[in-house]
Amino acid sequence: MRDPYSGRREDMVDRLKERGVLRTPKVIEAMQKVPRHLFVPRGMRESAYYDTPLGIGSGQTISAPHMVGMMLEYLEFHEGQKVLEVGGGSGYHAALAGHIVGPSGHVYSVERIPSLARRAIRNLEAGGLSDRVDVLLGDGSEGVPDHAPYDRIFITCAAPEIPPPLMEELDDGGKLLIPLGSRYYQDLIMLEKQGDQIRRRSLGGCVFVPLIGKYGFS
Ligand code: SAH
Repeated sequence: MRDPYSGRREDMVDRLKERGVLRTPKVIEAMQKVPRHLFVPRGMRESAYYDTPLGIGSGQTISAPHMVGMMLEYLEFHEGQKVLEVGGGSGYHAALAGHIVGPSGHVYSVERIPSLARRAIRNLEAGGLSDRVDVLLGDGSEGVPDHAPYDRIFITCAAPEIPPPLMEELDDGGKLLIPLGSRYYQDLIMLEKQGDQIRRRSLGGCVFVPLIGKYGFS
């Protein structure tokens, strides 16, 4: 079936390429292929390809495409990697990660709000990525030891500290990306684990909804 939104999706990707946000063929291809309009509420599909966050219910948001693209570029995913996302929301970001890691990789995406987790599962089915992404219900700040260690961990909500279980579940050579700061403003922080060493880089300001949980806000 023809996708009536494919032209708008191409335009969104072209604009993000022109702005230098998207650079890597694998990331570009994922953003060209994954249908963002299927991850936003039905009444918002017409706005799905604007570069803006959108409400997805329960006071939560799907991040703006430029932020999603930036994070995917920073994470430097490779095929076959095992990935953990904390803050599943609509499932869109996880779907893109799943597209990039391919059929030999896997994404586990944790969401704490049951209605959003259920909808993310349906969105991933509609988007054709449900075999690459498992949506799990729970407090992602406590980690997901069952499938650890992870090559990549990314948190798509604002955290006051780096949740210790997540650092523990990061594999040697792995990367963890997290918005760190207050409820209202954060710094996007990249941590890279190399043996006993942790390399830390600040990638600039950002605004995410809060991580609520044991190592989050109350
Ligand atoms: N990545 C999502 C958007 C994330 S919005 C997407 O692509 O649509 C942040 C999400 O984090 C919200 O859905 C919120 O409910 C969830 N969240 C907040 N605290 C959490 C926690 N402790 N564990 C798991 N999910 C959490």
